[in-house]
Amino acid sequence: MDELPLAGRGCVVTGGSRGIGAAIVRLALAQGADVVFGYHSGEDRARALADELRADHPDQRCVPLYAHVADAGEAERFATAALGRLDRFDVLVNNAGLTRDTLFARMGPQQWHDVIGTNLDSMYTVTRPLLMPLVKQRGGAIINIASSSGLHGIPGQTAYSAAKAGVIGFTKALAKEIGARGVTVNAVAPGLIETDMTAAIPPDRAELLRSLIPTHTFGSPLDVAHLVCFLASDRARYITGQAIEVSGGLVV
Ligand code: NDP
Repeated sequence: MDELPLAGRGCVVTGGSRGIGAAIVRLALAQGADVVFGYHSGEDRARALADELRADHPDQRCVPLYAHVADAGEAERFATAALGRLDRFDVLVNNAGLTRDTLFARMGPQQWHDVIGTNLDSMYTVTRPLLMPLVKQRGGAIINIASSSGLHGIPGQTAYSAAKAGVIGFTKALAKEIGARGVTVNAVAPGLIETDMTAAIPPDRAELLRSLIPTHTFGSPLDVAHLVCFLASDRARYITGQAIEVSGGLVV
């Protein structure tokens, strides 16, 4: 039988306490990785998840650490602590994100700032301190969670669309900078996935959105995690600089 695709790999995942991030943490462990994951407000949930996963995978590391990815100092502390908890570091998943949906005409500066800070500034604050270890070992993968909103633009999400389009631009440029060093950089762009983020959508709007998806269903966090873990594995070593949608074919 093949070795598990992420056996022995050290992964760092931001926003791993729930939703898509938690599914990535769960699947990466199931595929053999050691994982350090960040939480922000959900310490109890993060600790409970880590306890559960350590019981399932007693020979692997599963470590929750506080992270505020919008703050450069906090992100650097998180990155340094994460490296200290892993024997080796191979994969960074920049997953933490939030929405503050409103029409642009009504958007206050704090909403703009929160969305750009968590979704886009985090590409700098978290990736910067974790880049050189990957470059020096001449191997690894960076996976940035973008959104269909960043590819197509969604009304009510100007800040979020701008941030996630920025994530995709960042991904493509960084892939070109470090491709020769054996480090791949890709973006995964989910459409509508069943998490706390989409639970806030009013039922009539959710119905309308569902009608725009060829599969007529929202996706599950695991649907996204499968692609992320594939991109994190050696099987995807010739894929870089891509933004791949996991959206049921969403047409917006
Ligand atoms: P959730 O709202 O379910 O979870 C968000 C995660 O991000 C939590 O783990 C949260 O930690 C963490 N987080 C939020 N703010 C910060 C911060 N300032 N610093 C560190 N961590 C933070 O979101 P999803 O799982 O739905 O989304 C995950 C990613 O996927 C995001 O980047 C999102 O933009 C993207 N996405 C989601 C879609 C969807 O339909 N759900 C569609 C397209 C993209 P805590 O709970 O500890 O506060």
